[in-house]
Amino acid sequence: MRQTKLPLLSNAPQGGTKQLDVPPRLLLGAGPSNVHARVLQALSTQVIGHLDPVFVDLMGEIQQLLRYLCQTKNAVTLPLSGTGSAAMEAAIANTIEPGDRLLVGVNGYFGARICEIASRYDAEVRRLEKPWGKVFDLNEIREGLERHRPAVLALVHGETSTGALQPLSGIGELCREHNTLLLVDSVTSLGSVPLYVDAWGIDVCYSASQKCLSAAPGVAPITLSQRAIQKRNNRSMRVRSWYLDTVLLEQYWGEEHRYHHTAPINLNYALRESMRMVVEEGLSECWQRHRNNAELLWIGLSDLDLDCYVEADYRLPSLTTIRVPQGINDRAVARYLLTHYNIEIGLGLGELAGKIWRVGLMGFNSRAENVTLLLTAFEEALQNAR
Ligand code: PLP
Repeated sequence: MRQTKLPLLSNAPQGGTKQLDVPPRLLLGAGPSNVHARVLQALSTQVIGHLDPVFVDLMGEIQQLLRYLCQTKNAVTLPLSGTGSAAMEAAIANTIEPGDRLLVGVNGYFGARICEIASRYDAEVRRLEKPWGKVFDLNEIREGLERHRPAVLALVHGETSTGALQPLSGIGELCREHNTLLLVDSVTSLGSVPLYVDAWGIDVCYSASQKCLSAAPGVAPITLSQRAIQKRNNRSMRVRSWYLDTVLLEQYWGEEHRYHHTAPINLNYALRESMRMVVEEGLSECWQRHRNNAELLWIGLSDLDLDCYVEADYRLPSLTTIRVPQGINDRAVARYLLTHYNIEIGLGLGELAGKIWRVGLMGFNSRAENVTLLLTAFEEALQNAR
């Protein structure tokens, strides 16, 4: 049979495209972080079906590993297909009904993002404000709960825009006294600092794969307590987002394994491998390693006469913010590190733009040799990038 060439209406890019070639960056910014060779290998494993019995077994293991990392027994604990923002949206969509009052601790960029998303779900958003870089104490939380009587209180555990670590112990009890659900963003804290979802009475906690878990971006853990599930099950209307509806996700990740959407198979392999590595190290040891390397960095910065932005008592080990000294161009320093050392660091975000740098020591990247290299490179960059 004579074959005629099927016509195209648009041409392929002129000259074709080059083979993928990315520089060997050391990612010491606000995320993502580099991944271990074992995680890369997991990523490049052949795809299998999202309902294949082998994948179904892996799903069970991933959920068990997530429960360990979150220190929870919550049945509904799963990796959402999406980034941390998808998990943030899921947390809100599944707890908030239009008109529900949500009190948000806003002491940085991501608290403000929670407000923005919640307003799109028609929550009655109230803000508990604190200057960027500060954290809320129990009295401020108590007063906020008494004044606003919210259905849900949302707090960011590790504020990536400021480098502050919000203490959470005791807040769950206050929330129970006020019949309020506690929602926590652990995107930059899970795996790097103590986080006890059950013991701290957290009702909804979400995170992301690409920061302290050092897996590839694109999957985001979320866990829901019985109280959160009860509120969700008593809703008068369905969860507004079909894709993020945990009722449907539970049917896929739970016993039924009913098709909902095609899970990103390889991202789940990667997440599983990165969590296996945490288990091998021990979660407590992993937290301690993040702390030790952060302290090394803080001492080194002080030797360079650089000031941390956040007070030592509530500094986030996985992300350090450094004040940009007078007369120094923050962008020039970051550019120097990138071009001369292949090191990425983060710049200030929102109202801290131009005022701080953000240095992440997350997951696989939280290692003493990275701290030493960064400090050496930073000293040179400060001399050369005025
Ligand atoms: N919450 C916090 C605290 C974050 O740091 C980030 C991202 O940096 C997000 C939420 C959003 O996550 P993603 O960028 O993966 O969507």
